[in-house]
Amino acid sequence: MNIAVCLKQVPGTTKVEIDPQTNTLVRQGIENIVNPFDTYALEEGVRLRERYGGKVTAISMGPPQAEAILRDALATGADEAVLLSDAAFAGADTWATAYTLSRAVDKLGPCDIVICGRQTIDGDTGQVGPELAEILGFTFVSYVSQVEEIDGEHMRLKRLMGERYEILEALLPAVITVVKEINTPRLPSLRGMAKAKSATIPVWGAEELEVDGNKIGLTGSATRVIKVFFPQRTQRAEILEGELPGQVDYLIDRLREANLI
Ligand SMILES: Cc1cc2nc3c(=O)[nH]c(=O)nc-3n(C[C@H](O)[C@H](O)[C@H](O)COP(=O)(O)OP(=O)(O)OC[C@H]3O[C@@H](n4cnc5c(N)ncnc54)[C@H](O)[C@@H]3O)c2cc1C
Repeated sequence: MNIAVCLKQVPGTTKVEIDPQTNTLVRQGIENIVNPFDTYALEEGVRLRERYGGKVTAISMGPPQAEAILRDALATGADEAVLLSDAAFAGADTWATAYTLSRAVDKLGPCDIVICGRQTIDGDTGQVGPELAEILGFTFVSYVSQVEEIDGEHMRLKRLMGERYEILEALLPAVITVVKEINTPRLPSLRGMAKAKSATIPVWGAEELEVDGNKIGLTGSATRVIKVFFPQRTQRAEILEGELPGQVDYLIDRLREANLI
């Protein structure tokens, strides 16, 4: 079974600043980590390989420093890793990202399952998984909380739908996005760390992926981020003057004025 796992490098903090000129994250001085949901995707890929055999390839699209999360993926059980990095990929929206990832999946050869996290903690859209399935022409299932069984061309999945679960059968090849309930990610092994340290991680750019130049980066993006901002806080606290019970009467009047009672 050939399994591809998509991992994105994200800022390891929610206290990020936005550059008002470029509307992009100020990344200087920020520690980068693997998107937490993607660790569950990787663990599931490794578990499926342990159950059914085959190979797990970790893929990330990002700047050269994203190689670090791929080395961690190798230390944690991925067999191979590939970094998609090229100045031409910069400014990609989710569709251009999914297109670029799809070219890598194609280049890797026949693929049975692509596993993604349910969403990232920075972009937060949850769009890349479904878009990747659409471009590849694969089946898509989101919010997977258990891969029960894979049998020939089908897999049986449990899917978390808010308060309830769905059991469904899906045709392979498929892209799935996973939730945290699916497993407990393992820690890197000593052997894995040694292997990861000396591994060569190929870097594929626009040329290696033989992409359509009109579908990548800013050029291939149908959306543009024109403004990123934190909403202004309009609520303010009011300290009630006086004493009880007058304060209570005042509070009731204020709540009535605001149509809250
Ligand atoms: C310089 C810059 C400019 C940008 N400009 C725009 C813009 O103009 N318009 C716009 O809409 N967005 C823009 N973006 C954001 C961009 O859309 C996202 O970084 C990217 O498409 C992923 O979206 P997401 O984080 O919401 O992922 P989600 O859809 O939430 O991710 C779901 C899953 O997909 C996989 N995945 C996502 N991204 C990657 C990746 N890079 N590599 C491997 N796996 C991945 C992971 O498994 C992840 O858990 C820009 C980003 C940068 C860095």
